[in-house]
Amino acid sequence: MQVELNAQERSTLLARLTRGELPDARGRFGPFGGRYAPETLVPALERLAEGAAQYLRDPTFQAELGLELRDWVGRPTPLTHAPTLSRHWGADVWLKREDLAHTGAHKINNALGQALLAKRLGAERIIAETGAGQHGVATAAACARVGICCTVYMGAVDVRRQAPNVERMVQLGAQVVPVKGGDQTLRAAIDEAFRDWVSDPVKAYYLLGSAVGPHPYPWLVRELQSVIGREARAQSLEKIGRLPDVAVACVGGGSNSIGLFHPLVGDAGIQLLGIEAGGRGAGLGDNAATLATGRPGVLHGTYSMLLQDREGQVQETHSVSAGLDYPGVGPEHSLLQAIGRVSYESATDDEALDALRECCSSEGILPAIESSHALAGARRWAAKNPGKVILIGLSGRGDKDMPTLSQVFGGARKIIEASADG
Ligand SMILES: *Cc1c(COP(=O)(O)O)cnc(C)c1O
Repeated sequence: MQVELNAQERSTLLARLTRGELPDARGRFGPFGGRYAPETLVPALERLAEGAAQYLRDPTFQAELGLELRDWVGRPTPLTHAPTLSRHWGADVWLKREDLAHTGAHKINNALGQALLAKRLGAERIIAETGAGQHGVATAAACARVGICCTVYMGAVDVRRQAPNVERMVQLGAQVVPVKGGDQTLRAAIDEAFRDWVSDPVKAYYLLGSAVGPHPYPWLVRELQSVIGREARAQSLEKIGRLPDVAVACVGGGSNSIGLFHPLVGDAGIQLLGIEAGGRGAGLGDNAATLATGRPGVLHGTYSMLLQDREGQVQETHSVSAGLDYPGVGPEHSLLQAIGRVSYESATDDEALDALRECCSSEGILPAIESSHALAGARRWAAKNPGKVILIGLSGRGDKDMPTLSQVFGGARKIIEASADG
């Protein structure tokens, strides 16, 4: 049961998207999106939608955000040529370096923007949820910078798996609350964060970490992340002298990819390619390839593609990268897939790890495992399309992935053992 759109509907929706008319007033991206939220939250979501629309248009707010993005986050992030990957792949490869942003990934663009917005809206505290801890760290840092206190909900299992990020959040002044109910991972943490917000919808601000959730979040997060694509577009014209043939990004909830894609959607000559987590294979539960294998349904307040079984039960997911391990995806991606403007493929755990190693040894850049999915997808595209200009969204750095990399490759272990022998 996919959503089928005819040629007329597709081109109308693409035109509206390009003109900035989507989401519509109800938060719909064509058939997707909307607001499926408890009655008690509707006024808070409505206030947020109005406040966000007002401040994102306000030159004073934009000036403050722009200064903080420059001096605290370190923007613009560079567009780096990758000469060795280019030679290996028979392409001209360029990397948009979100790994060089403060706290190590694109997530800070959204966390900072929303923290500043929360302050303007008069919120007294921030609520966030985190899975792997990256969004929690970005939020804790942004809240410290802006001067607002912060509670981060995190599944008890994740707290144990991601101890270094828990320590970072604590050092940055956040209160981290382990969630012992449900599956004790991200989904349970999101439920708990919503519960907190329902009980305190006026004083609390819920800072959502990806382009998912009820309206206005998919729109708000896209607007804050679009700085990636706007910069990359201008940098391409300046450094390459033209726009790329293809832009590639990894897709978890879909925030770094929508940030790269959205400002390029109107450039008909640029192919757009999203890469999901192919995990250990195609079976249900073995991956997080929502757009490739899912069906539409409602999760966390939005109607979008979703990994579910025949009874509509949301599926467990698997990926070697914690940041892609989510059974849903932002509604704008579901639309971009349905109208055929973006192609979505997946890269397996092994393909991503292989691409990670190649990027390390070729370019001296250690990418996040999430971002390595984009590298793997780009490499496959290059093999089919020789001699093209490829822009890759390098969403984050791999320093956080050391425990996984030691487990998989064991590079350091051998040296440590050898040093003990000697
Ligand atoms: C969280 C994360 C992602 C996935 O989230 P999106 O919302 O899909 O961008 C990708 N890359 C890195 C480095 C991350 O930390």
